[in-house]
Amino acid sequence: MSDCLFCGIIDGTIKADIVYRDETVLAFKDIVPRAPVHILIIPRAHIATISDLAPADGTLVGAIFFAAAKLVEEFGIAESGYRVVVNCGPDAGQTVLHLHYHLLGGRQMGWPPG
Ligand code: AMP
Ligand code: ZN
Repeated sequence: MSDCLFCGIIDGTIKADIVYRDETVLAFKDIVPRAPVHILIIPRAHIATISDLAPADGTLVGAIFFAAAKLVEEFGIAESGYRVVVNCGPDAGQTVLHLHYHLLGGRQMGWPPG
């Protein structure tokens, strides 16, 4: 999608600190980190929210979680703990309409989330 920020990161027109890439997924550091480790994992395909996923996207969703599993090892938070969050829609505070999984870690987190 031409007017999508994260599609711009995928096609290289917008710079990002990319920490993981494969044929399905891209991951990069959040520009406003909310924790010592704050990475966004996104599908290369433009999908707006979880609500827009199709049954055929199961492999894509799995690839996102496998990327998360690799990243928590690489960033040293596999043992200390981490959180994966997907904000969908206005009440959840989604600001970028390209599905993204926040991977957060490196500090104690509260529950429930705000
Ligand atoms: P959400 O509020 O769940 O839609 O999350 C969007 C996230 O994208 C926020 O945490 C922003 O800090 C992050 N963000 C926005 N622009 C960029 C960018 N150019 N590079 C990296 N992260 C970004
Ligand atoms: Zn997009």
